[in-house]
Amino acid sequence: MAALKEFQIAYVGLSLGKHEFSYKINEKFFSCFNESEVKSGNVKCALLLEKKSDMLVLDFSIKGYVDLECDLCLDDYPQDIIIDSKLIFKFGEFYLEQSDEIIVIPTTQAEINVAQYIYEFIHLALPAKRVHPGGLGDRMNCDKEVIKRLENLSHSKSNKKKATQTDSRWEELKKLKFD
Ligand SMILES: [Zn+2]
Repeated sequence: MAALKEFQIAYVGLSLGKHEFSYKINEKFFSCFNESEVKSGNVKCALLLEKKSDMLVLDFSIKGYVDLECDLCLDDYPQDIIIDSKLIFKFGEFYLEQSDEIIVIPTTQAEINVAQYIYEFIHLALPAKRVHPGGLGDRMNCDKEVIKRLENLSHSKSNKKKATQTDSRWEELKKLKFD
C-alpha cells in the first residue's frame, strides 16, 4: 500500500538507541483498510522506537478523535481516543507472534510497517456503546430531530401493542358473555 509508506521503518539503517517518529492518522489512513469501522478522524501518533542489539522496543502514544456513528441518533460524533501501547520486535530465526506485545522477526528482515498495528490499537480502543458526549441520559448533543422521530416511532409501536392487547381481552370477555 503506497499510501502507508510513511509508516514503514527501515530499522536496519538506524543506530542503536532511541528514535522518534510521528504520524497523522486521518481519512486517508482509514481508507487504506477496507474493513475499517472508522472512516475519518484526527489522531496523532507519537512513536518512540528504541533499537537494541537484539530487539526493537516501540512505545506508541496515540491521541485524538475518530468519527463514530451514534447508537441513538445515527449521526456522527467525535470519539476521543487515548492509547498508550507497547510492542517488542525480537530478532530471531523466523516470524512468530509470541504474544499481543512480543513479535519475533527474522534477522533477514530490514523494515517494519507500523500502520497495521496503529490501526488495530485504534479499533481495540473503540467503545462498545457509542453515543454523543453528553451521555445517554440527557442526549445533549444528539440530533434532536432524529431522536424525536425515533421516539414517536417506538411510542406508536407500543400503542399498537396495547391496543391489540385490549382487543384480545375484549374478545375473551365477549366469549364469557355469550357462551
Ligand atoms: Zn447522538
